[in-house]
Amino acid sequence: MGAQLKLVEQNLHLVEVHQRQLLFHIPSSSLFELDDLTLQLIQDLRQQPEQSAEQLVSALQAKFSEQQALFPEQHSWFSKQQIEEVIQEMLALELISDGSRQLTPEIGTKTISEFPLNTLVLNVNTGCNLSCSYCYKEDLDKPSAGRKMTLETAKQSIEMLLQESPDEERYNIVFFGGEPLSNFSLIVEVVNYAERRFAQFNKPVDFTMTTNATLLSEEIVDWLNAHRFGLSVSMDGPKAIHDKNRITVGGQGTYDVVSRKARMLLSRYRSRPIGARVTLTKGITDIERIWRHLHQELGFAEVGFAPVTSGDISAFNLSYQELGEVFANMKRLGEFYLEEALAHRNIGFSNMHQLLTDLHEGNKKALPCGAGVAMLAVDHKGDLNLCHRFTGSDLNTFGDVQTGMDKPALAEFLQQRLDRTDTGCASCRIRNLCSGGCYHESYARYNDPAQPTYHYCDLMRDWVDFGIQVYSRIMAENPAFFDDYISPRRAH
Ligand code: SF4
Ligand code: SF4
Repeated sequence: MGAQLKLVEQNLHLVEVHQRQLLFHIPSSSLFELDDLTLQLIQDLRQQPEQSAEQLVSALQAKFSEQQALFPEQHSWFSKQQIEEVIQEMLALELISDGSRQLTPEIGTKTISEFPLNTLVLNVNTGCNLSCSYCYKEDLDKPSAGRKMTLETAKQSIEMLLQESPDEERYNIVFFGGEPLSNFSLIVEVVNYAERRFAQFNKPVDFTMTTNATLLSEEIVDWLNAHRFGLSVSMDGPKAIHDKNRITVGGQGTYDVVSRKARMLLSRYRSRPIGARVTLTKGITDIERIWRHLHQELGFAEVGFAPVTSGDISAFNLSYQELGEVFANMKRLGEFYLEEALAHRNIGFSNMHQLLTDLHEGNKKALPCGAGVAMLAVDHKGDLNLCHRFTGSDLNTFGDVQTGMDKPALAEFLQQRLDRTDTGCASCRIRNLCSGGCYHESYARYNDPAQPTYHYCDLMRDWVDFGIQVYSRIMAENPAFFDDYISPRRAH
């Protein structure tokens, strides 16, 4: 008897979209439309898990003959050769296994030895002029107590980036805080320095910043525009929602000033589209209303939602039930995204857009984000942190701007996440899109950044299934949407 064929369930996931059967090939994050033969083969192997190729061929041929006799219009018959070819294809895709060779090791068993660092986040001031009630920043200070990065540290950061990682195609310097604009004079000096230094290496450098907008003036906006900053504004929605948490040190809501400044910014800024970043906390789940206000009324090009589930102040965390509402509302806005995409319009819903981009590009992530590999955050002292959310935390740092990256320590940390053995992620169908979730969320929740964040996996898996449905509809009905809006990403 020939080798026994088995389905490799952890590599496949079937999704039905408008009566079409799709297969999500998990190792490559790719979607395939299933033909009758492949679908029947999967179903057969599910019913009878171990069969030889000969058994499978005759079982399928018998089934197709029967179906064809009953419904000749709807079913085709497949030859032995056709069935064998599909078996070979599925073996090559590791959707079935005949036990003769080891399956490709999970990306998780690889080790990281190279660090293509191209993004540095500079925490230019730990101080913030606002006092948002839920703010997660570990090193956040009142404005008067803000610790500012010196120009010397900022220059050393750039030199460290060039030295550690000279071969990247482009670089990105991110200004973060606190409120970065509360140290605007440093930003100006750093940009001048970085533009000069990267030009000497013939390398492009981009600048990005997330700001609460309150300190923006027309002059600052024009300067940022001249240096093509990628900007995103922290804003939580219409006044009633925004003012719940985004308040001044004196406790006043900041909607009026933020929306006035945002309108001014949006009316003057030309070099790149501007996004709004919304923090969803306890009691705030109305995604559509927030999106409508920020995108349609104020004019932000994109709106991205960050649900808080593991903040330091647990009273602000969304409950599981609220999180369910958030995802249900994201899906509702996602339906609208789909409708508009079919009419060739992009509604600027970043979460949906990112998921579609991952599916379209077949992204498979060994790690949840670039933290510690392509990106590091420099705190005001010059120490290197995994990302902007860790500056000021108790987690060990990974070198500093004078001595460089502590690569062995970084590799050891990342290895824990790369190795999915005995974790819930090992067989999860979205493991190559989620990769265990944000390190900081894990750190805040379990005090261990390496442990996956399991508390809303079902919601995440459901969201990805929804994304697969949206993706396949757009692909079937208006594929030009991807050319114009997703790959490469368009400015507007
Ligand atoms: S954290 Fe949960 S959803 Fe993410 S890969 Fe692991 S098991 Fe899957
Ligand atoms: S660890 Fe979390 S917060 Fe930091 S970059 Fe990654 S996903 Fe973002």
